[in-house]
Amino acid sequence: MSETPSKINLLGLSPAKLEAFFEEMGEKRFRATQVLKWLHQQGASSFDEMTNISKALRTKLAEVAEIREPEILLDKTSRDGTRKWVIRMDGGSAIEMVLIPDGDRRTLCVSSQVGCSLDCSFCSTGKQGYNRNLSTAEIIAQLRVAIRAYGPFDPSERRVSNVVLMGMGEPLMNFDNVVDATQLMMDDNAYGLSKRRVTLSTSGVVPALDKLREVSDVSLAISLHAANNELRDQLVPINKRYPIEELIAACNRYLEGLNDKRVITVEYTLIEGVNDQPEHARELVKVLRQVPCKLNLIPFNPFPNSGYRRPSEEAIQRFKDIMLKASIITTVRRTRGDDVDAACGQLVGQVEDRTRRSQKYIPVVQEEPVHGKTERV
Ligand code: SAH
Ligand code: SF4
Repeated sequence: MSETPSKINLLGLSPAKLEAFFEEMGEKRFRATQVLKWLHQQGASSFDEMTNISKALRTKLAEVAEIREPEILLDKTSRDGTRKWVIRMDGGSAIEMVLIPDGDRRTLCVSSQVGCSLDCSFCSTGKQGYNRNLSTAEIIAQLRVAIRAYGPFDPSERRVSNVVLMGMGEPLMNFDNVVDATQLMMDDNAYGLSKRRVTLSTSGVVPALDKLREVSDVSLAISLHAANNELRDQLVPINKRYPIEELIAACNRYLEGLNDKRVITVEYTLIEGVNDQPEHARELVKVLRQVPCKLNLIPFNPFPNSGYRRPSEEAIQRFKDIMLKASIITTVRRTRGDDVDAACGQLVGQVEDRTRRSQKYIPVVQEEPVHGKTERV
Protein backbone atom coordinates (compact mmCIF):
# COMPACT_ATOMS: atom_id res chain seq x y z
CA MET A 1 0.00 0.00 0.00
CA SER A 2 1.36 3.46 -0.77
CA GLU A 3 1.67 5.94 2.07
CA THR A 4 -1.11 8.52 2.01
CA PRO A 5 -2.02 8.61 5.67
CA SER A 6 -3.99 11.83 5.50
CA LYS A 7 -6.76 10.25 3.44
CA ILE A 8 -9.30 7.94 4.95
CA ASN A 9 -9.48 4.48 3.41
CA LEU A 10 -13.18 3.88 2.77
CA LEU A 11 -12.65 0.10 2.67
CA GLY A 12 -12.23 0.25 6.44
CA LEU A 13 -15.50 1.97 7.35
CA SER A 14 -18.29 -0.17 8.75
CA PRO A 15 -21.80 0.65 7.42
CA ALA A 16 -22.49 2.84 10.48
CA LYS A 17 -19.14 4.64 10.19
CA LEU A 18 -19.65 5.27 6.48
CA GLU A 19 -23.03 6.88 7.24
CA ALA A 20 -21.38 9.08 9.86
CA PHE A 21 -18.66 9.96 7.34
CA PHE A 22 -21.21 11.22 4.81
CA GLU A 23 -23.19 13.09 7.45
CA GLU A 24 -20.03 14.87 8.51
CA MET A 25 -19.46 15.86 4.90
CA GLY A 26 -22.95 17.38 4.91
CA GLU A 27 -24.22 14.65 2.57
CA LYS A 28 -27.31 12.44 2.82
CA ARG A 29 -26.89 9.15 4.65
CA PHE A 30 -28.13 7.09 1.70
CA ARG A 31 -24.85 7.91 -0.02
CA ALA A 32 -23.32 5.40 2.38
CA THR A 33 -25.48 2.61 0.95
CA GLN A 34 -24.54 3.58 -2.59
CA VAL A 35 -20.85 3.68 -1.80
CA LEU A 36 -20.98 0.43 0.20
CA LYS A 37 -22.44 -1.30 -2.84
CA TRP A 38 -19.81 0.16 -5.14
CA LEU A 39 -16.97 -0.81 -2.87
CA HIS A 40 -18.01 -4.25 -1.72
CA GLN A 41 -20.43 -5.56 -4.34
CA GLN A 42 -18.99 -4.01 -7.50
CA GLY A 43 -15.40 -4.02 -6.26
CA ALA A 44 -14.84 -0.40 -7.30
CA SER A 45 -11.26 0.73 -6.92
CA SER A 46 -11.80 4.36 -7.92
CA PHE A 47 -14.48 6.99 -7.28
CA ASP A 48 -14.85 7.55 -11.04
CA GLU A 49 -16.59 4.21 -11.35
CA MET A 50 -19.40 5.35 -9.02
CA THR A 51 -21.69 6.56 -11.76
CA ASN A 52 -24.80 7.18 -9.64
CA ILE A 53 -22.88 9.74 -7.63
CA SER A 54 -22.50 13.28 -8.96
CA LYS A 55 -19.18 14.29 -10.41
CA ALA A 56 -18.89 17.06 -7.82
CA LEU A 57 -19.27 14.62 -4.93
CA ARG A 58 -16.84 12.17 -6.50
CA THR A 59 -14.26 14.94 -6.74
CA LYS A 60 -14.91 15.89 -3.13
CA LEU A 61 -14.53 12.27 -2.08
CA ALA A 62 -11.25 11.85 -3.91
CA GLU A 63 -9.87 14.83 -1.97
CA VAL A 64 -10.48 13.38 1.46
CA ALA A 65 -10.75 9.64 0.95
CA GLU A 66 -9.18 6.77 -0.92
CA ILE A 67 -9.76 3.12 -1.80
CA ARG A 68 -6.51 1.45 -0.91
CA GLU A 69 -5.68 -2.21 -1.26
CA PRO A 70 -2.61 -4.20 -0.30
CA GLU A 71 -0.14 -5.49 -2.83
CA ILE A 72 -0.25 -9.20 -3.64
CA LEU A 73 3.18 -10.75 -3.13
CA LEU A 74 2.29 -14.34 -3.83
CA ASP A 75 -0.69 -16.19 -5.28
CA LYS A 76 -0.33 -19.92 -5.31
CA THR A 77 -2.74 -22.80 -5.81
CA SER A 78 -2.20 -26.13 -4.11
CA ARG A 79 -2.66 -29.51 -5.82
CA ASP A 80 -5.96 -29.88 -3.94
CA GLY A 81 -7.30 -26.51 -5.15
CA THR A 82 -6.56 -24.57 -1.96
CA ARG A 83 -5.33 -21.13 -2.95
CA LYS A 84 -3.01 -19.05 -0.83
CA TRP A 85 -2.08 -15.42 -1.08
CA VAL A 86 0.62 -13.48 0.70
CA ILE A 87 -0.20 -9.78 0.82
CA ARG A 88 1.94 -6.88 1.88
CA MET A 89 0.58 -4.58 4.54
CA ASP A 90 1.50 -1.01 5.46
CA GLY A 91 4.89 -0.97 7.12
CA GLY A 92 6.22 -3.85 5.03
CA SER A 93 4.90 -6.83 6.98
CA ALA A 94 3.13 -9.54 5.03
CA ILE A 95 0.20 -11.71 6.02
CA GLU A 96 -1.32 -14.83 4.56
CA MET A 97 -4.84 -15.84 3.63
CA VAL A 98 -6.24 -19.04 2.22
CA LEU A 99 -9.30 -19.99 0.14
CA ILE A 100 -10.46 -23.57 0.61
CA PRO A 101 -12.90 -24.92 -2.00
CA ASP A 102 -15.08 -27.81 -0.85
CA GLY A 103 -18.07 -28.74 -3.02
CA ASP A 104 -20.36 -25.69 -3.12
CA ARG A 105 -18.42 -23.98 -0.36
CA ARG A 106 -15.48 -21.71 -0.78
CA THR A 107 -14.20 -20.82 2.65
CA LEU A 108 -11.82 -17.92 3.05
CA CYS A 109 -9.53 -18.07 6.05
CA VAL A 110 -8.53 -14.50 6.88
CA SER A 111 -5.87 -13.05 9.16
CA SER A 112 -6.58 -10.44 11.82
CA GLN A 113 -3.08 -9.56 13.05
CA VAL A 114 0.50 -9.53 11.80
CA GLY A 115 1.70 -12.46 13.89
CA CYS A 116 0.11 -13.17 17.25
CA SER A 117 1.03 -12.21 20.78
CA LEU A 118 -0.45 -15.26 22.51
CA ASP A 119 2.29 -17.79 21.79
CA CYS A 120 0.42 -21.08 21.79
CA SER A 121 3.08 -23.77 21.90
CA PHE A 122 2.01 -25.64 18.74
CA CYS A 123 1.27 -22.68 16.42
CA SER A 124 3.79 -21.36 13.94
CA THR A 125 2.02 -17.98 13.73
CA GLY A 126 2.58 -17.61 17.46
CA LYS A 127 6.23 -18.56 17.04
CA GLN A 128 6.68 -15.80 14.48
CA GLY A 129 6.02 -13.27 17.22
CA TYR A 130 3.77 -10.26 16.96
CA ASN A 131 3.91 -6.98 15.11
CA ARG A 132 0.53 -5.24 15.03
CA ASN A 133 -3.21 -5.40 14.53
CA LEU A 134 -4.59 -5.27 11.01
CA SER A 135 -6.91 -2.37 10.24
CA THR A 136 -10.50 -3.04 9.20
CA ALA A 137 -9.52 -2.12 5.64
CA GLU A 138 -6.70 -4.67 5.69
CA ILE A 139 -9.03 -7.41 6.90
CA ILE A 140 -11.72 -6.57 4.33
CA ALA A 141 -9.13 -6.22 1.58
CA GLN A 142 -8.43 -9.95 1.97
CA LEU A 143 -12.00 -10.68 0.93
CA ARG A 144 -11.71 -8.34 -2.05
CA VAL A 145 -8.45 -9.91 -3.18
CA ALA A 146 -9.99 -13.40 -3.07
CA ILE A 147 -13.15 -12.35 -4.94
CA ARG A 148 -11.24 -10.45 -7.61
CA ALA A 149 -8.88 -13.37 -8.16
CA TYR A 150 -11.74 -15.08 -9.98
CA GLY A 151 -12.52 -12.19 -12.37
CA PRO A 152 -14.26 -8.80 -12.12
CA PHE A 153 -16.67 -8.56 -9.18
CA ASP A 154 -20.05 -10.13 -9.87
CA PRO A 155 -22.46 -9.98 -6.92
CA SER A 156 -24.56 -12.78 -8.41
CA GLU A 157 -21.69 -15.21 -7.79
CA ARG A 158 -20.79 -16.43 -4.31
CA ARG A 159 -17.07 -16.70 -4.88
CA VAL A 160 -16.44 -16.63 -1.17
CA SER A 161 -19.32 -18.43 0.55
CA ASN A 162 -17.88 -18.57 4.08
CA VAL A 163 -15.33 -16.60 6.05
CA VAL A 164 -13.43 -17.95 9.02
CA LEU A 165 -11.22 -15.71 11.14
CA MET A 166 -8.72 -18.52 11.58
CA GLY A 167 -5.68 -17.13 9.81
CA MET A 168 -2.85 -15.31 11.52
CA GLY A 169 -3.64 -13.61 14.78
CA GLU A 170 -6.10 -13.64 17.66
CA PRO A 171 -9.20 -11.78 16.42
CA LEU A 172 -10.40 -10.79 19.90
CA MET A 173 -7.08 -9.03 20.59
CA ASN A 174 -8.00 -6.74 17.67
CA PHE A 175 -11.56 -6.25 18.79
CA ASP A 176 -12.84 -3.05 17.15
CA ASN A 177 -11.31 -3.62 13.74
CA VAL A 178 -12.47 -7.24 13.64
CA VAL A 179 -16.02 -6.33 14.68
CA ASP A 180 -16.23 -3.64 11.98
CA ALA A 181 -14.88 -6.06 9.38
CA THR A 182 -17.38 -8.78 10.31
CA GLN A 183 -20.18 -6.21 10.11
CA LEU A 184 -19.18 -5.47 6.54
CA MET A 185 -19.01 -9.19 5.77
CA MET A 186 -22.57 -9.67 7.04
CA ASP A 187 -24.19 -6.45 5.72
CA ASP A 188 -26.64 -6.90 2.84
CA ASN A 189 -25.26 -3.81 1.11
CA ALA A 190 -21.71 -5.15 1.36
CA TYR A 191 -20.81 -8.87 1.25
CA GLY A 192 -24.17 -10.13 2.54
CA LEU A 193 -22.87 -13.32 4.17
CA SER A 194 -25.22 -14.87 6.71
CA LYS A 195 -24.16 -14.85 10.35
CA ARG A 196 -23.84 -18.64 10.14
CA ARG A 197 -21.21 -18.26 7.45
CA VAL A 198 -18.88 -15.91 9.27
CA THR A 199 -16.99 -17.60 12.09
CA LEU A 200 -14.63 -15.98 14.54
CA SER A 201 -12.12 -18.34 16.14
CA THR A 202 -10.64 -17.43 19.49
CA SER A 203 -8.25 -19.02 21.90
CA GLY A 204 -10.45 -17.71 24.70
CA VAL A 205 -10.10 -14.04 25.59
CA VAL A 206 -13.05 -14.21 27.96
CA PRO A 207 -13.75 -10.49 28.65
CA ALA A 208 -13.63 -9.76 24.92
CA LEU A 209 -16.05 -12.62 24.30
CA ASP A 210 -18.52 -11.00 26.67
CA LYS A 211 -18.08 -7.69 24.89
CA LEU A 212 -18.56 -9.38 21.53
CA ARG A 213 -21.98 -10.66 22.43
CA GLU A 214 -23.16 -7.09 22.93
CA VAL A 215 -22.17 -5.92 19.46
CA SER A 216 -22.16 -8.92 17.16
CA ASP A 217 -23.89 -12.19 16.35
CA VAL A 218 -21.08 -13.75 14.38
CA SER A 219 -20.65 -17.53 14.76
CA LEU A 220 -18.05 -18.63 17.26
CA ALA A 221 -15.27 -21.20 17.34
CA ILE A 222 -13.04 -21.73 20.35
CA SER A 223 -9.60 -23.28 20.36
CA LEU A 224 -9.71 -25.67 23.29
CA HIS A 225 -6.96 -28.26 22.59
CA ALA A 226 -7.01 -29.64 26.13
CA ALA A 227 -9.73 -30.60 28.58
CA ASN A 228 -7.84 -29.90 31.80
CA ASN A 229 -6.24 -26.67 32.91
CA GLU A 230 -2.82 -28.14 33.60
CA LEU A 231 -2.36 -29.25 30.00
CA ARG A 232 -4.15 -26.26 28.49
CA ASP A 233 -1.89 -23.89 30.44
CA GLN A 234 1.04 -25.43 28.55
CA LEU A 235 -0.54 -25.42 25.09
CA VAL A 236 -2.58 -22.20 25.19
CA PRO A 237 -0.91 -19.84 27.69
CA ILE A 238 -3.89 -17.47 27.87
CA ASN A 239 -5.59 -20.30 29.77
CA LYS A 240 -3.63 -19.20 32.83
CA ARG A 241 -5.70 -16.02 32.82
CA TYR A 242 -9.00 -17.46 31.62
CA PRO A 243 -9.23 -21.15 32.52
CA ILE A 244 -11.49 -23.70 30.87
CA GLU A 245 -14.47 -23.27 33.26
CA GLU A 246 -14.54 -19.52 32.59
CA LEU A 247 -14.25 -20.01 28.86
CA ILE A 248 -17.10 -22.53 28.76
CA ALA A 249 -19.27 -20.23 30.87
CA ALA A 250 -18.55 -17.35 28.47
CA CYS A 251 -19.50 -19.57 25.50
CA ASN A 252 -22.83 -20.38 27.14
CA ARG A 253 -23.48 -16.67 27.72
CA TYR A 254 -22.64 -15.99 24.09
CA LEU A 255 -25.07 -18.64 22.84
CA GLU A 256 -27.82 -17.33 25.15
CA GLY A 257 -27.38 -13.90 23.59
CA LEU A 258 -27.75 -15.29 20.07
CA ASN A 259 -31.13 -16.72 20.86
CA ASP A 260 -31.07 -19.16 17.94
CA LYS A 261 -30.05 -22.77 17.52
CA ARG A 262 -26.40 -22.16 16.81
CA VAL A 263 -23.69 -24.09 18.60
CA ILE A 264 -20.04 -23.36 19.32
CA THR A 265 -17.43 -25.01 17.13
CA VAL A 266 -14.73 -26.43 19.40
CA GLU A 267 -11.34 -26.80 17.74
CA TYR A 268 -8.97 -29.39 19.12
CA THR A 269 -5.56 -29.81 17.55
CA LEU A 270 -4.48 -33.42 18.03
CA ILE A 271 -0.82 -33.73 18.96
CA GLU A 272 0.85 -37.11 19.29
CA GLY A 273 1.39 -38.21 22.85
CA VAL A 274 0.27 -34.83 24.21
CA ASN A 275 -3.53 -34.70 23.99
CA ASP A 276 -4.51 -37.58 21.67
CA GLN A 277 -4.92 -40.48 24.11
CA PRO A 278 -8.24 -42.16 24.96
CA GLU A 279 -8.15 -40.66 28.46
CA HIS A 280 -7.89 -37.19 26.89
CA ALA A 281 -10.90 -37.98 24.72
CA ARG A 282 -12.94 -39.10 27.72
CA GLU A 283 -11.98 -35.98 29.63
CA LEU A 284 -12.97 -33.88 26.62
CA VAL A 285 -16.41 -35.51 26.50
CA LYS A 286 -17.05 -34.27 30.04
CA VAL A 287 -16.14 -30.69 29.15
CA LEU A 288 -18.12 -30.68 25.91
CA ARG A 289 -21.25 -31.84 27.69
CA GLN A 290 -21.29 -28.43 29.38
CA VAL A 291 -21.94 -26.37 26.22
CA PRO A 292 -23.93 -26.90 23.00
CA CYS A 293 -21.17 -27.57 20.51
CA LYS A 294 -19.69 -29.58 17.70
CA LEU A 295 -16.10 -30.74 17.66
CA ASN A 296 -13.55 -30.15 14.94
CA LEU A 297 -10.40 -32.22 15.33
CA ILE A 298 -7.35 -30.75 13.60
CA PRO A 299 -4.43 -33.16 13.21
CA PHE A 300 -1.33 -31.16 14.11
CA ASN A 301 0.39 -29.56 11.13
CA PRO A 302 4.14 -29.69 11.63
CA PHE A 303 6.54 -26.79 11.22
CA PRO A 304 10.30 -26.62 11.80
CA ASN A 305 11.47 -26.96 15.42
CA SER A 306 7.96 -27.33 16.79
CA GLY A 307 8.93 -30.40 18.80
CA TYR A 308 5.47 -31.89 18.17
CA ARG A 309 4.21 -34.60 15.86
CA ARG A 310 0.93 -35.40 14.16
CA PRO A 311 -0.76 -38.53 15.54
CA SER A 312 -1.17 -41.63 13.37
CA GLU A 313 -4.42 -42.11 11.41
CA GLU A 314 -5.37 -44.87 13.87
CA ALA A 315 -4.94 -42.57 16.86
CA ILE A 316 -7.03 -39.87 15.16
CA GLN A 317 -9.75 -42.37 14.32
CA ARG A 318 -9.71 -43.82 17.84
CA PHE A 319 -10.11 -40.35 19.34
CA LYS A 320 -12.93 -39.53 16.94
CA ASP A 321 -14.74 -42.79 17.70
CA ILE A 322 -14.75 -42.08 21.42
CA MET A 323 -16.34 -38.69 20.75
CA LEU A 324 -18.92 -40.13 18.36
CA LYS A 325 -19.86 -42.86 20.82
CA ALA A 326 -20.52 -40.11 23.33
CA SER A 327 -22.87 -38.52 20.74
CA ILE A 328 -20.64 -35.50 20.14
CA ILE A 329 -20.82 -34.31 16.54
CA THR A 330 -17.23 -34.65 15.42
CA THR A 331 -15.40 -33.91 12.20
CA VAL A 332 -11.74 -34.20 11.36
CA ARG A 333 -10.34 -31.24 9.48
CA ARG A 334 -8.42 -32.80 6.65
CA THR A 335 -5.20 -31.07 5.86
CA ARG A 336 -5.64 -28.84 2.86
CA GLY A 337 -3.03 -26.97 0.94
CA ASP A 338 -0.04 -28.24 2.87
CA ASP A 339 2.05 -28.36 -0.30
CA VAL A 340 1.82 -24.55 -0.33
CA ASP A 341 2.07 -24.30 3.49
CA ALA A 342 -1.52 -23.16 3.75
CA ALA A 343 -2.69 -25.58 6.41
CA CYS A 344 -3.86 -24.50 9.89
CA GLY A 345 -1.03 -23.18 11.96
CA GLN A 346 1.31 -22.99 8.98
CA LEU A 347 0.47 -19.39 8.13
CA VAL A 348 3.45 -17.26 8.87
CA GLY A 349 3.63 -14.30 6.48
CA GLN A 350 6.52 -12.02 7.25
CA VAL A 351 6.37 -10.67 10.72
CA GLU A 352 8.76 -8.05 11.86
CA ASP A 353 8.64 -9.49 15.33
CA ARG A 354 8.47 -7.03 18.17
CA THR A 355 8.63 -9.75 20.79
CA ARG A 356 11.88 -11.37 19.57
CA ARG A 357 10.23 -14.69 20.18
CA SER A 358 10.85 -15.73 16.59
CA GLN A 359 14.59 -15.83 17.15
CA LYS A 360 14.15 -19.18 18.84
CA TYR A 361 12.97 -20.70 15.58
CA ILE A 362 14.74 -20.98 12.28
CA PRO A 363 13.27 -18.61 9.68
CA VAL A 364 10.34 -20.40 8.10
CA VAL A 365 9.87 -18.06 5.18
CA GLN A 366 12.39 -16.88 2.69
CA GLU A 367 11.10 -15.19 -0.38
CA GLU A 368 12.73 -14.50 -3.67
CA PRO A 369 11.19 -12.89 -6.75
CA VAL A 370 9.81 -15.29 -9.34
CA HIS A 371 8.19 -13.80 -12.45
CA GLY A 372 7.45 -10.56 -10.65
CA LYS A 373 5.89 -12.33 -7.71
CA THR A 374 7.50 -14.06 -4.81
CA GLU A 375 7.62 -17.74 -4.28
CA ARG A 376 8.18 -19.67 -1.11
CA VAL A 377 11.38 -21.67 -1.20
N1 SAH B 1 -6.05 -17.18 17.14
C1 SAH B 1 -7.24 -17.85 16.83
C2 SAH B 1 -7.45 -18.09 15.35
C3 SAH B 1 -6.27 -18.50 14.51
S1 SAH B 1 -5.61 -20.10 14.74
C4 SAH B 1 -7.32 -19.14 17.60
O1 SAH B 1 -6.35 -19.57 18.17
O2 SAH B 1 -8.42 -19.71 17.62
C5 SAH B 1 -6.78 -21.17 13.92
C6 SAH B 1 -6.77 -22.59 14.45
O3 SAH B 1 -5.62 -23.32 14.03
C7 SAH B 1 -6.77 -22.63 15.96
O4 SAH B 1 -7.69 -23.57 16.45
C8 SAH B 1 -5.37 -23.05 16.24
O5 SAH B 1 -5.24 -23.59 17.51
C9 SAH B 1 -5.09 -24.02 15.14
N2 SAH B 1 -3.67 -24.29 14.95
C10 SAH B 1 -2.63 -23.47 15.22
N3 SAH B 1 -1.46 -24.08 14.93
C11 SAH B 1 -1.77 -25.31 14.46
C12 SAH B 1 -0.97 -26.39 13.97
N4 SAH B 1 0.33 -26.31 13.88
N5 SAH B 1 -1.63 -27.50 13.55
C13 SAH B 1 -2.97 -27.57 13.59
N6 SAH B 1 -3.76 -26.58 14.04
C14 SAH B 1 -3.16 -25.46 14.47
FE1 SF4 C 1 -2.35 -16.94 18.29
FE2 SF4 C 1 -4.32 -18.63 17.65
FE3 SF4 C 1 -1.76 -19.24 17.09
FE4 SF4 C 1 -2.58 -19.22 19.63
S1 SF4 C 1 -3.29 -20.59 17.97
S2 SF4 C 1 -0.67 -18.31 18.86
S3 SF4 C 1 -4.04 -17.53 19.62
S4 SF4 C 1 -2.95 -17.58 16.20
